[in-house]
Amino acid sequence: MAQHSLISVEHLSRRYGNTLAVNDVSFSVQRGEVLGFLGPNGAGKSTTMQMLTGNLAPSAGAIRINGIDLLEAPREAKRHLGFLPEQPPLYRDLNVDEYLGFCARLHQIPRARIARAVAESKERCGLGEVGRRLIHQLSKGYQQRVGIAQAIIHGPEVVILDEPTVGLDPIQIREIRQLIRELGGEHSVILSTHILPEVQATCDRVQIIQRGELVLSDTIAGIVQRMQGSSVILGLRRPPDEASLLALEGVQAVQALDDGRLRILHARQHNPAEALATAAAQRDWGLYELSPERLSLEEVFVNLTTRETPAEEGQP
Ligand code: ADP
Repeated sequence: MAQHSLISVEHLSRRYGNTLAVNDVSFSVQRGEVLGFLGPNGAGKSTTMQMLTGNLAPSAGAIRINGIDLLEAPREAKRHLGFLPEQPPLYRDLNVDEYLGFCARLHQIPRARIARAVAESKERCGLGEVGRRLIHQLSKGYQQRVGIAQAIIHGPEVVILDEPTVGLDPIQIREIRQLIRELGGEHSVILSTHILPEVQATCDRVQIIQRGELVLSDTIAGIVQRMQGSSVILGLRRPPDEASLLALEGVQAVQALDDGRLRILHARQHNPAEALATAAAQRDWGLYELSPERLSLEEVFVNLTTRETPAEEGQP
């Protein structure tokens, strides 16, 4: 199993004085997978990203990039790693070709292969037309593409992106997310973000960090499952008494809403929608609405990150 992981993190911890910023975190990412790394501020995302990219020494634990130990062989491991920091290191007075050429040399791409590497990374990031444009004249969305192009110019297996869509407009956000998905095809991508819909739109799997610890690791499909709530909204023109509803299988409680509709609470495993619809038809209750209430990803996130929190540790 482990040999297929392009990123493997084992028991990673980082202390700052008395603060345990990252606490015994383990995970792996496979080829072709986009992993969303999500957490509230102060949760330990940046600290983890900095360790993964070899910019911060862990207090304990091991990181392997494409099977190479990052702590034992940092130079070799980093060859397989591309990084887009939150503030991309763009040289604004260079044009795109010059800048990417410079990045290619930094990554020690042999001189004879630089032109091709620049052309390929531009092509993949939709920068084909703007090679001669100065970076500071590009829109923020195009600048972000340049940031991604520099992260993949040396053909790394692993790409780590820190908050890649911050500051972009909605169209640029869609384009960058699309690009990230495409990168996921060949690479392993880790996307650090605090934006929940970004994870849903872009990632295959999500990992939530809270107070330095992983509190959830699941596929997007699994998350969607968790989003299935345990209530349905029921609209009846001629509602029966509560006891008739409670008598139906699966119904645990009935709440009257202000607008006359009812909220039916049920066990998560046992949605009574069908029983409600059947009873409403048979007994002429005048059914006009029957819809599941779903938790938003936001609510799932809040549930997960606030659960079992000792009162005295309310704030980091
Ligand atoms: P995030 O990126 O999720 O916002 P960070 O990794 O930046 O979280 O921070 C995790 C914890 O470590 C926080 O409690 C933060 O205050 C602390 N921390 C981060 N960097 C330092 C530092 N250089 N010195 C001391 N404490 C730090």
